[in-house]
Amino acid sequence: MSTQVSSAVVAGAGIVGCVQALLLARVGFDVTLVDAADSVPALSDKAMADNAMAVRSVAVSYRSQQLLASAGLWSDLGCPIHSVLVNEQGRFGAVRFHANEFSVPALGYVIKNHLLEEQLYQLIDAEPGITLVKPASVQLIQPVSNPLCLQIVSADQTQTADAQLLVAADGTGSSLRAQLGIEVNTTDYEQCALVANVLCQRDHGNVAFERFTDSGPLALLPLDERRMALVYTVHAHRADEIRSLTDQQLIDEIQQRFGGRLGRIQDIGPRAVLPLMLTESQQQTHGCSVLIGNAARTLHPVAGQGLNLALRDVFELAGQLANEPEVEIALGKFVSARRPDQQFVVRQTDTLAKVFRKHRWPLSASLGFARQSSLLLLDSVKPLRGKFGRRNAGMGIPLTPLGH
Ligand SMILES: Cc1cc2nc3c(=O)[nH]c(=O)nc-3n(C[C@H](O)[C@H](O)[C@H](O)COP(=O)(O)OP(=O)(O)OC[C@H]3O[C@@H](n4cnc5c(N)ncnc54)[C@H](O)[C@@H]3O)c2cc1C
Repeated sequence: MSTQVSSAVVAGAGIVGCVQALLLARVGFDVTLVDAADSVPALSDKAMADNAMAVRSVAVSYRSQQLLASAGLWSDLGCPIHSVLVNEQGRFGAVRFHANEFSVPALGYVIKNHLLEEQLYQLIDAEPGITLVKPASVQLIQPVSNPLCLQIVSADQTQTADAQLLVAADGTGSSLRAQLGIEVNTTDYEQCALVANVLCQRDHGNVAFERFTDSGPLALLPLDERRMALVYTVHAHRADEIRSLTDQQLIDEIQQRFGGRLGRIQDIGPRAVLPLMLTESQQQTHGCSVLIGNAARTLHPVAGQGLNLALRDVFELAGQLANEPEVEIALGKFVSARRPDQQFVVRQTDTLAKVFRKHRWPLSASLGFARQSSLLLLDSVKPLRGKFGRRNAGMGIPLTPLGH
């Protein structure tokens, strides 16, 4: 057994944990980044990357792209989204947002996860202020002491570490959250998301589509050439059925829900079917520990906001810690600063997920009217459109700059 002293331990080296570790190192922390997985994601995804139909992707807003670029964590990674079209199957009312009307080059970018992860791992490798330990997990010995006393447990050794700060970025099922005694509130949407890439007959023209169908929301995001990333929401009772459909049956179902806007769907890649829940931690900090990313809150993907919200948290946390040497005080300021944005995004996403979900009973006239009117209203009332569009691109949300 050996002893290592470090200022910050970040548990979880997903996208969120990696960005957090890099920012903490930039603002002067000596970081130990610990991940439970036994492979480097970028490398394990290599086989996937070789198969263009199998890559997984995520849409980041213009603001997220700007934040990543400002920290040198962005290098022309994604497919730009020039406009977003939101509509509902079988009803009038559609909203189209263009990048031009917000004076930005793109509303967002669709990034292939393995490219971003690969870049983050290269930056971590080159960063002297970060030690990456994997596969390993973090055990809390003294959750309320300052410095915190932790153990980093891997197959062949257990290291004891003192840390002024613990960041738990260990995902939805966060074991550190449980060790800290932080409870979660869970809403089961009784829905699941089918994630896959599709090849369409026509070029996507850098348009992202969000269509509310009689099954649930269906998003098609521009990936490259004629390839789109699909997130298709169905009721949970269809999870097994949707897994076992043949590719052609699935293509037919999606085509019927989406229509012919992109011509025929010609191919579909490997699919994943995931249950959808809102998981919200009852508190985000405990002493000198903080939950971040999915460990803090996991959202329904309907509005594509989970990673965007987490990135704003990650930057604010680093900004507060850069300005305030007392970690507990900085965490308190972080929580106050971020609460309005977090509450807004959780509420908006939860409302969208519930209002537009598949009903197993006939849709009431009033709910149908409300859905249709909200789309019409959004399209026709200029200030409302502007506000909604800017908010969803993450613009105008104040964050504490790093290093002032
Ligand atoms: C279908 C779908 C589509 C989505 N689309 C979008 C989108 O378009 N835009 C958007 O902004 N968001 C989107 N999201 C949300 C986004 O994917 C998440 O917000 C983001 O992946 C959260 O990343 P994370 O790093 O917090 O968690 P994770 O990616 O889960 O990473 C957790 C990490 O912790 C590690 N770990 C786990 N346990 C331990 C442990 N005990 N010790 C150490 N390490 C541990 C894991 O190995 C992993 O590397 C989508 C989500 C879904 C499900």
